[in-house]
Amino acid sequence: MKLAMIGFGQAGGKIVDKFLEYDKETGSGIVRSAVAVNTAKADLLGLEHIPEENRVLIGQARVKGHGVGADNELGAEIAEEDIDEVQGAIDNIPVHEVDAFLIVAGLGGGTGSGGSPVVAKHLKRIYTEPVYGLGVLPGSDEGGIYTLNAARSFQTFVREVDNLMVFDNDAWRQTGESVEGGYDHINEEIVRRFGVLFGAGEIEAGDNVAESVVDSSEIINTLDGGGVSTVGYASEDVEVSSGGGGLLSRFKGDDSTDDGMDTANTTNRITSLVRKAALGRLTLPCEIEGAERALLVMAGPPKHLNRKGIERGRKWLEEQTGSMEVRGGDYPTNAPKVAASILLAGVHNVPRIKELQQVAIEAQDNIDDIRDQSEDNLEDLVEDDEDELDPLF
Ligand code: GDP
Repeated sequence: MKLAMIGFGQAGGKIVDKFLEYDKETGSGIVRSAVAVNTAKADLLGLEHIPEENRVLIGQARVKGHGVGADNELGAEIAEEDIDEVQGAIDNIPVHEVDAFLIVAGLGGGTGSGGSPVVAKHLKRIYTEPVYGLGVLPGSDEGGIYTLNAARSFQTFVREVDNLMVFDNDAWRQTGESVEGGYDHINEEIVRRFGVLFGAGEIEAGDNVAESVVDSSEIINTLDGGGVSTVGYASEDVEVSSGGGGLLSRFKGDDSTDDGMDTANTTNRITSLVRKAALGRLTLPCEIEGAERALLVMAGPPKHLNRKGIERGRKWLEEQTGSMEVRGGDYPTNAPKVAASILLAGVHNVPRIKELQQVAIEAQDNIDDIRDQSEDNLEDLVEDDEDELDPLF
């Protein structure tokens, strides 16, 4: 499907930039337009692929291009005040050519965390196209303020978008590596997962289209109904050599038996990839049981995809989620691998969110306590015990 992407804040801008890079490399054609919005000038300058005229610096009067310093209330205020500047960039998007808007942001910071829900609300009021969010949760080692920002933004963002897809940095940190050190690798993972999903709806008629190819309306219908979504992914390298049978058939010189075996292998490979994708690491780890809707996309060379495998995978997902709304289809590509990408929409059983909220509440209480005591503490420090000193004036 074709998306108008808006990267809000540093993380949002970098991820949308990566989506453009992915588009160029794979020719998937999912980014119809890309806009970056930020209060920090340096972050906008650091982008590589988003055209300069689509980079919008907001809040100049308030923060002079230096960012909001993880103050997401200020981020939200600035987005409200400067919404016309954001709209100015969106006016250049041929909205009749896009299937949906996608607002991307790190929820733990200030600009994207505060500004994304404001822009989502604005877009929903003006356009009929769906407005989706892609929200990134902070790592648990980032500290209280980031967690508090994320918990508050999450609540607001979910309410304002048609669906919030979530990626949890914490679940993707590699052992022994700080989150910062791993952003490149994390951003590639984000773009790969969502790229396969959104790219599926972009296959042109006549490309080598199987009848069960995924259409963008199936992605939209899966996301429709709102709530929170997560994506699973698994892939396996395959040979793309033309001429079917491969090494074994050449040895046996018997194509017919080999075809049967190939079909069985293809089906088994698909079903095992579906399990791996759903039960492995999700973008937002959660219990898949109870997910309201799901979409299975099988990407790969057409000869490695078959209807039976996808049907089995779909049925298995129905059993695991308990949902009757599990869609599925192909995404024929030329890449030498078969990949299963699973969108689980409307998930409810997400311990990570409950944990985030708990830490956020503690951080909020702690911040309130410190503020309450601040005046007394300062007085204790500044005033001498016996009150013998007088201030200058
Ligand atoms: P903002 O510019 O004020 O919106 O804040 P940032 O986007 O810099 O940071 C917000 C949060 O996003 C941080 O707490 C990190 O968890 C996360 N983050 C920052 N940069 C990246 C990035 O490149 N990739 C990912 N996945 N997360 C990031």
